Amino acid sequence: MSETSSYLAEAREAFNLACPSKEPVSLFSQRQWDDALCANVLQELINSSTSAKDRARLLAVSTRESSYWLQALPSKHIGTLLDHLTLTITVGLRLGARIQQPHLCHCGETVDVYGHHSLACAKSAGRFSRHASLNGVIRRSLVTAKVPAVLEPNGLARSDGKRPDGMTLVPWKQGRSLVWDATCVDTLALSHIQVTSVAAGTAATKAERAKRRKYENIENNFIFVPFGVETMGSWGEDARSFFKDLRSA
Ligand SMILES: [Zn+2]
Repeated sequence: MSETSSYLAEAREAFNLACPSKEPVSLFSQRQWDDALCANVLQELINSSTSAKDRARLLAVSTRESSYWLQALPSKHIGTLLDHLTLTITVGLRLGARIQQPHLCHCGETVDVYGHHSLACAKSAGRFSRHASLNGVIRRSLVTAKVPAVLEPNGLARSDGKRPDGMTLVPWKQGRSLVWDATCVDTLALSHIQVTSVAAGTAATKAERAKRRKYENIENNFIFVPFGVETMGSWGEDARSFFKDLRSA
């Protein structure tokens, strides 16, 4: 016969008060007890947020994909080791912490203590490295799944004459190669805040739809996937679906 702690009844009562009807099926799963309480804390944070920016940030950082990077094995050789400053800024941005001194950006806008302007600034060099890193990760993931792929393939043009970001050299599905185009949009940009403060990933999904329109002409010969992500870590619908396919490839 198993022993029962004399505090069990009291603990259950306190838990049920905080999380009505959420008691775990398995009393011995610490994860299940914690999940219900963490969901409560998150909801309280979202409900008490005082600005659309805070709400959008909380919604985005609480998506599953926004924390994938925390599960990556830190390795210098495969590019997953973050230096101290990068890690500090990354965590600070997600927490909405004060991470820098206010100053004037060379675009003329004021950069506040939270550092969000740099994520949306049209003159920020970070936009290019984010885009390049994103495509590098997609290509390496395909290669790891034994699907050789190249970046910026020649001979394929979208409606505005630009090239897609990448293409597989072997068929991906239905005898057709995969062509992808990736984009990273800012969750907190003025142009997106109206939708991102309501649901996570909506700016990325919107960007993916815009990409689909630009690539309408190649969809008959290729499987086209727009891969939209946001600066606060949430992904678009197509990116999530492609990632699922890639995991089972
Ligand atoms: Zn700027």
